Amino acid sequence: MKRAKRIATIPPYLFAEIDKKKQALQQRGVDIISLGIGDPDLPTPAHVVEALHREAADPATHRYPDYEGAPEFRQAVATYYRRRFGVELDPDKEVMALIGSKEGLAHIIWAFVDPGDLVLVPDPAYPVYRTHTLLAGGTPVYLPLRAENGFLPNLDEVDAEVAKRAKILFLNYPNNPTAGVATVEFFQRAVEFCRRYEILLCHDAAYCEMTFDGYRAPSVLEVPGAMDVAVEFYSLSKPFNMTGWRIAAAVGNSEALRALGIIKTNTDSGQFTAVQRAGIAALGDRAESFIADMNRIYRRRQDIAVAGLTKVGLAVERPAGSFYLWVPVPDGYTDSEFTSLLLEKAGVVVVPGTGYGASGAGYIRIALTISEERLQEACDRILQTVKL
Ligand SMILES: *Cc1c(COP(=O)(O)O)cnc(C)c1O
Repeated sequence: MKRAKRIATIPPYLFAEIDKKKQALQQRGVDIISLGIGDPDLPTPAHVVEALHREAADPATHRYPDYEGAPEFRQAVATYYRRRFGVELDPDKEVMALIGSKEGLAHIIWAFVDPGDLVLVPDPAYPVYRTHTLLAGGTPVYLPLRAENGFLPNLDEVDAEVAKRAKILFLNYPNNPTAGVATVEFFQRAVEFCRRYEILLCHDAAYCEMTFDGYRAPSVLEVPGAMDVAVEFYSLSKPFNMTGWRIAAAVGNSEALRALGIIKTNTDSGQFTAVQRAGIAALGDRAESFIADMNRIYRRRQDIAVAGLTKVGLAVERPAGSFYLWVPVPDGYTDSEFTSLLLEKAGVVVVPGTGYGASGAGYIRIALTISEERLQEACDRILQTVKL
């Protein structure tokens, strides 16, 4: 058997490696607390689960779904975008259902990137932007996200020749892994940049509902002219505790969505219609109160973790968005060394910053997708292991 050469360009998926180490310790009877993967621990809203039960009983949902997504799901996304962001979308042309946003983020690269093309990828970042660029034969150009710039890329630093050759700019705010947030003014600059160089702006809005203390995350489509150059990936996974359901939407530029559709119709056959209809229930009139309840929970967890880690002597700040903390490691450790120390001596899983790119060096990421009790226990164990 000879595997494709492109496989060799891909590093092992980050969490698969961490999982292996974790399982080895668990087999030795160690009680592991995972602050690793960002997967909500709380259940999907009951009325969404009920909607799935009901819709799965309707034989009309048992056949192949519509390629672009059920018209009623696309309409529900458009209605939600008007209510939430004040953004008008044509559900027929400017909304497409996805089997999770990861699927859409991966496939849009195949619709735009030829071998040799450049893609502007934040560093650190969610790995999919980089890995699918590599798989498609493109070259990622990394835009460092630095603390002193609020974890926003400095687009003025991008060489004009590079910008001319770039096909896509990826952005993700609130950000995974840095927990940085963007303003509408920053999105304006990004839209201007993409219009000037004819680049597709792909905004990954996976955490746009997870915000705190009065901060509301904007959609990139709120910027005038964004619809000419931008596609936003809205996922139901994180706000509605639906990571296992695989339901999301790509919204924005219709030409880009048509191109994405060509890849998708030749690859998958859409998401189960009953899941799409359950997605409609999630985006319905109970969405806002559910999201507010969840954010109150994450906010309390932030308080516990920030207090706990501050006691350890770590310089951690409470972010305005996402359910992560991006924590500088103490002097004398690399992020990988500190991650290993926490796993082996405290039984606590965190993710090393370099797992998300070279500029993640010196940080660990902590996910607040765990109960207050376990989070407190994790902080206590870290305190016993490392006192600075
Ligand atoms: C979780 C996550 C996703 C994937 O979400 P799905 O819709 O479940 O595929 C996309 N982007 C970022 C930054 C994420 O953290």
